[in-house]
Amino acid sequence: MRKYYEAIEKFHKKYKMKGTNNEDMTFRLNLLIEELGELAEAVTKGYGKKEFLEENVDLLNLIIGNLISTGISAEEFEKAFWEKHKKIMNRKKKKTKSGKYRVSEFKK
Ligand SMILES: [Mg+2]
Repeated sequence: MRKYYEAIEKFHKKYKMKGTNNEDMTFRLNLLIEELGELAEAVTKGYGKKEFLEENVDLLNLIIGNLISTGISAEEFEKAFWEKHKKIMNRKKKKTKSGKYRVSEFKK
C-alpha cells in the first residue's frame, strides 16, 4: 500500500494539485463516478482483461488520491483498512431474497 500511496503522492506533487480543484471532494467524486462508469462499460461491453485492469487501477489511484487530498496518511489508512478487515472477516454470509450472496451486516 505504501508504494502505491507514495506513487500517487508523487503524481499529486508533479501536477501541483495542492489547493486546486483536484483536492475538492465534489470534483473527485465526479472523477470516481466517471471511472466507475468506464469500469461498468468494460464489464458490460465485454472488453478484455487489460481494460478491466486499467479501470480498476484508475479507481484505486483516485481512492489513494482522496486520502492524499484530505491529508490522510498511509499509516492512518492502513490502520483503518485492518480495522475494517477484521470487522468484515467476522461477518456472516447470507443468501438474499434475490438469490445473491452477500457478506454484510444484516439488520432484521
Ligand atoms: Mg479510466
